[in-house]
Amino acid sequence: MASDPAHFRVCSTCRKPIGFEQTWYRCSVSTCNRGKTALFFCSVDCWSAHVPVVRHRDAWAEQEKAPTREGWLAQLQHDEERENRAALPSTVADFGGGDDEAELPRDVLVVASKLKAYVRARAGFNTSDNVVEVLSDHLRELCREAIRNAAIDGRKTVMDRDFMPLVRRGGHDRG
Ligand SMILES: [Zn+2]
Ligand SMILES: [Zn+2]
Repeated sequence: MASDPAHFRVCSTCRKPIGFEQTWYRCSVSTCNRGKTALFFCSVDCWSAHVPVVRHRDAWAEQEKAPTREGWLAQLQHDEERENRAALPSTVADFGGGDDEAELPRDVLVVASKLKAYVRARAGFNTSDNVVEVLSDHLRELCREAIRNAAIDGRKTVMDRDFMPLVRRGGHDRG
């Protein structure tokens, strides 16, 4: 849809433009007024022309007045903003502050045996079982921030680049 329209609509029958603040006619039948397929008529004659085509049994024309140009632009912008919000399904809002994790899985996210093996190989130390839970919580927190980064970027796939700034922040400067 054009963001700066020259007129309100075109007539569904004769394609003549329906200007702002001009009188137009809508069909009384609800299916002729639905969303993007809604019909607009410049005159009662043009309305009459569609009646046999769509085989209405009981229908009439309702007189309407087109909005002002300003009113129409405001309406278009409003619709566009609403569509944009719908396209990004509240991810940013929900995961931004979303601390309500009660219904989310609390599984262990790291492989305990591999972790223990690494610590043992590196230092010969043992690893307490509770460590995996602390690390899992930490991973969940990182995921939440990464999801937020992806959502801000307009993606629904979390990628490595969403984590990069998060794990660098942790300062692995000793190498
Ligand atoms: Zn017409
Ligand atoms: Zn109709």
